[in-house]
Amino acid sequence: MEKYELILKRLLELPGSLSAGQDQIRIVCPVCKNPKAKCYVGIHKRILQEQGKKLLGYECKHCLFHGLVGPKFFKTLGIEVDKDTLESMKFHRENIKTVNPVTKMEKLNIKIPDFIRPEDKFKIDYLSKRFGRKVTIQDIKKYKIVVNFKDLYQVNNLNLFSNLDPKDKDYERKRNYLKYLGNEFTNHFVGMLSVDNNKINLRNINSEKLKNKRYMVHVINKNIGNPYMYMPDIPVDLLASEPVINMAEGNYDIIGAKELFFLNENYDNVFVAIGTRAAYKRVLNQILKMTGFLNAKINIFADYDNDATDIESEEGLKWYKELFKDYRCLFSEINIIYNVAKYKDEKGIEQFSKDFGDLSKPVNVKSIVI
Ligand SMILES: [Zn+2]
Repeated sequence: MEKYELILKRLLELPGSLSAGQDQIRIVCPVCKNPKAKCYVGIHKRILQEQGKKLLGYECKHCLFHGLVGPKFFKTLGIEVDKDTLESMKFHRENIKTVNPVTKMEKLNIKIPDFIRPEDKFKIDYLSKRFGRKVTIQDIKKYKIVVNFKDLYQVNNLNLFSNLDPKDKDYERKRNYLKYLGNEFTNHFVGMLSVDNNKINLRNINSEKLKNKRYMVHVINKNIGNPYMYMPDIPVDLLASEPVINMAEGNYDIIGAKELFFLNENYDNVFVAIGTRAAYKRVLNQILKMTGFLNAKINIFADYDNDATDIESEEGLKWYKELFKDYRCLFSEINIIYNVAKYKDEKGIEQFSKDFGDLSKPVNVKSIVI
């Protein structure tokens, strides 16, 4: 029997207590003392999912008495429990999250492991190619790179199965699938943590089993619902006189832009990847809440799609002009920046570099103010 079951069993012995289905009982509320046993005690779902731990909560349907089962609760009921049992009910707040009071964004407290295993060297080589230089352990931290998926979980005491409900009839299958994914991520993928530390955007490097998936997103805590946003961990000077907001769709594009054009640390710049083109306005609103950077200069490191309309024509920029129409007056300048370079691939076929996500390819910047 697990600790929480022992506690429920003990509470069931109190006068007036009733069973209320699996993992739940009813007791006479110690506060309002309603004889109909209106106080429900059972597994706390929300916290169960956050920590993968079985904690008990209580809630009286008659008065307002509610909370987590712990020392105070036992004291109120006048029952003695041993140290082990109390320990098992402990709620580790430090491992959960903080909430930004302005943006209301919840953020997980997660540490990027700062070591590289020898078997992960091919991932560092892959990153170094895309960065156009040797990637260091400082880069791993600055760009919030998840080199080894399993290490991230271990270092931060996370539970891979915490989003699953053990009562789900599909639990075993889902658990096995997650385990399989976790192994593939660990052995064949390299990822980056989103700004709230809750999503890992993973790039497939050499997984055969998942070869049709180039990118995959893993969510650590499904109860946190922030939209996707990636920002390198670079300080920003909120009092900057000429702030610049740099945006791109992909993580590698914003890293490439930072690496290319902003090598000297300059805290007037914000760097952010938004995931998909449709998210530009939403992310811009969020950045404004975070920084207050009105009158900033905006740089969009756009994808130069060969199939799209000619970017030099009015038609080509129409999409961005339309998108930022209502924002134009808020900013000193909005710049759309393309990489228009061409190169010959290994077969001698002419290709476009298209974006800033792979600095092993040539760069030829075309910048247009809208
Ligand atoms: Zn009550």
